[in-house]
Amino acid sequence: FNAIGEEREIDRDEYTPGIEPQPTWCPGCGDFGVLKALKQALPEVGRSPEETLVCTGIGCSGKLNSYLDSYGFHTIHGRSLPVARAANLANPGLEVIAAGGDGDGYGIGGNHFIHTARENHDMTYIVFNNEIFGLTKGQTSPTSPKGHKSKTQPHGSAKSPIRPLSLSLTAGSSYVARTAAVNPNQAKEILIEAMEHDGFAHVDFLTQCPTWNKDAKQYVPYIDIQDSDDYSHDIHDRGEAADMAQQAEEALYEGEVLTGRFYVDDDRPSYTQEKQEIGEMPEEPLAERYFDDDYEWE
Ligand code: SF4
Repeated sequence: FNAIGEEREIDRDEYTPGIEPQPTWCPGCGDFGVLKALKQALPEVGRSPEETLVCTGIGCSGKLNSYLDSYGFHTIHGRSLPVARAANLANPGLEVIAAGGDGDGYGIGGNHFIHTARENHDMTYIVFNNEIFGLTKGQTSPTSPKGHKSKTQPHGSAKSPIRPLSLSLTAGSSYVARTAAVNPNQAKEILIEAMEHDGFAHVDFLTQCPTWNKDAKQYVPYIDIQDSDDYSHDIHDRGEAADMAQQAEEALYEGEVLTGRFYVDDDRPSYTQEKQEIGEMPEEPLAERYFDDDYEWE
């Protein structure tokens, strides 16, 4: 059923805008992989374009909602999460997706990332992690490896990279996964799970930037930790997930790309559910009240 109660099949082509713009990403950019995986995943979770909102920050990743024929909100740098939170609270019936790059999400918007995870807002957060600021032409980002040379760090970065999976777990995300643009089948499956998850689902999406990060790994070969005999951890155990996340974060900078599900907590209520439980938020979407002429505001 779509947002207005019609029963119908949803086709992935519905998400392709019928008019320009076509993607202006560079040839070989990993961002194409995110767009493709999202277009494949949305119909499988039964979400039509009119039920979907994509909020983006600034950066090459910020163009995502221009190339997806759903509702979209291109926010300012690092601010996709607060806008997405407001939309989700006003209309919990929407499929809310926030997206941004590693600089946008882990740097400029890092504070929003921590608190949206802590509060467990019901949305999917896709971070295009290419270890660089791409749109602004290759500056060092929070996930650039130590020693990485760029225009902003010509002698090599003296900073240790941020650990997004560990940070996410510590902050309180109830779903944490990492996938890569070079692994489209896994990416689609993870995005489906993330969207179906009730709570804050964080997907660290490795996206190569062949234009400004030529020396960087292309995230191949990747290892799916769920498919590998070398790794096994209980994805419902936060402690085991933290150990696995730490291992993956260290391995990434040594050339081993570990992807898959790191943590899934299906029991923790989302922020919306918590607010409804204590009577602070009505069961019906707040947005419906604005269209109800007879609603008596208190
Ligand atoms: Fe992709 Fe990098 Fe080009 Fe941006 S600059 S579109 S991230 S390849």
